[in-house]
Parts: sequence; structure tokens; C-alpha cells
Amino acid sequence: MNNIAYVALGSNLDDPIGQLQQAQLELANLPACELLATSSLYASKPMGPQDQPDYVNAVVKLATELQPIALLDALQQLENEHQRVRQRRWGPRTLDLDIVLYNQQRIDQPRLQVPHIGMHERNFVLYPLAELDSNLQLPDGTSIAELLDNCPLADLIKLEL
Ligand code: ATP
Ligand code: MG
Ligand code: MG
Repeated sequence: MNNIAYVALGSNLDDPIGQLQQAQLELANLPACELLATSSLYASKPMGPQDQPDYVNAVVKLATELQPIALLDALQQLENEHQRVRQRRWGPRTLDLDIVLYNQQRIDQPRLQVPHIGMHERNFVLYPLAELDSNLQLPDGTSIAELLDNCPLADLIKLEL
């Protein structure tokens, strides 16, 4: 298990907290993966269309032997198993699983961009990520502390469960 991947989880349909707790168990059971750490759950306001429920988000740290595309395949299969239906861009969903970081790799393929393109402006990714590793750096050398400085906590609420 010599690769480290950070995966962002999000849900705003059909018991979002339950969806994320279930997804954490499923991630722990993925072949060739070991769940190293899970952040707290956070409540956040929707991005994009506002006529949808609030979100619950988290980030997990995985050790994995899966290469990036194989990991994406496994994550998309889990999304499908959670009956995810894709309608509008950034519309409501039972489960979203995005690869935030994969080692220090930069990946720019049609199906996969890593680091995740939206991470810089998403407090619901950066705050849970910082909880897991406060010394993290992006491939371009930017520190997580610098990213947090430029991304207000705003409406993000850490859930005390
Ligand atoms: P966003 O990526 O802005 O958070 P989203 O998560 O709602 O939006 P999805 O519908 O889940 O978007 O995914 C759309 C496509 O994004 C996927 O089919 C996948 O191929 C692609 N994609 C590109 N980079 C990544 C990544 N780092 N993690 C997961 N999917 C990615
Ligand atoms: Mg997403
Ligand atoms: Mg996604």
C-alpha cells in the first residue's frame, strides 16, 4: 500500500450522515485499500444551485495499491451503489466521492484531474483535509495553511456526533 490518496465525500440526499458513514465503511473495505483516517463530518451550504438541501462533507485518507484511474473506477462504483443519479451540474446527490490528492501527482486526463480542480475554494474540502494532515502540501508547494488562509470557514459547521 504505497500510495496515499485523499478522497472528499459529499451527500445531501436520503440521510446524508448515514450515506457518509456507510461510504466510510465501504471505503475501508475496498480491495487494495486501507482506510488510514477519517475527518469529522461537516455541514455545508450547497454550491451552485441553491434550491437543494444542505450538504454533509468529510475527507478520508487512504493507503492504496490502486492506480488513480482504478481508484476513480472503484469510487464511481460506490457512487452508483448509493443510487447516485446525475442530473444538473452540482445538483443534489446521495454520494459524491472525489479524489482530492494522489501522492504528489499531477494528473490531467479527460476523466481525472488531480489535485481536484475545485479544492482551493472549497472550505468543505480544505477544513476536513487540514484536520487529517496539518502539514500537507500540494504538488506546487502550496501548504494547506496557505489554502485555509485564503478560504474562509464561512457557513461550514463541524458536526459533533
Ligand atoms: P466537482 O468535480 O466540481 O466536485 P461533481 O463532483 O459533482 O463536481 P461528478 O458528477 O461527481 O462531478 O463527476 C463528473 C466527472 O468528474 C466524473 O465523471 C469524473 O470523471 C470527473 N473527475 C475529474 N477529476 C476528478 C477527481 N479528481 N475526482 C473525481 N472525479 C473527477
Ligand atoms: Mg464533487
Ligand atoms: Mg464528483
